[in-house]
Formats: sequence, C-alpha cells, structure tokens
Amino acid sequence: MSKWYCPKCGFMYNETTGDENLGIPAETLFVKVDPAFVCPRCKTPKNMFIEVG
Ligand SMILES: [Zn+2]
Repeated sequence: MSKWYCPKCGFMYNETTGDENLGIPAETLFVKVDPAFVCPRCKTPKNMFIEVG
C-alpha cells in the first residue's frame, strides 16, 4: 500500500489506514477514492496528489 501527498500543503493520505475523518475505510487504494476527492486542507484536486513509497 502507498501513501499519497498533496504537493501544495503536504497533507498525506495513507492507503493502509484510510482516513476516518473523511469517511474513507482502511485499506482503500487511492485510485478507489471518489474522483471528486479534494485535499481536506487546501482543496487541491485528487489528480494533483503524488504517490510516495
Ligand atoms: Zn493540500
């Protein structure tokens, strides 16, 4: 599983843990997250997120 980060503010999405605050269950691959997803901090669109190891 990977982590993805927002290049604008550094917010991190972790596929292993999902994001409870955003209602995304653990082990949800980022590609499976709603395409309308935006960074909860700065509203950067999902397609701008960068995959990290
Ligand atoms: Zn952001």
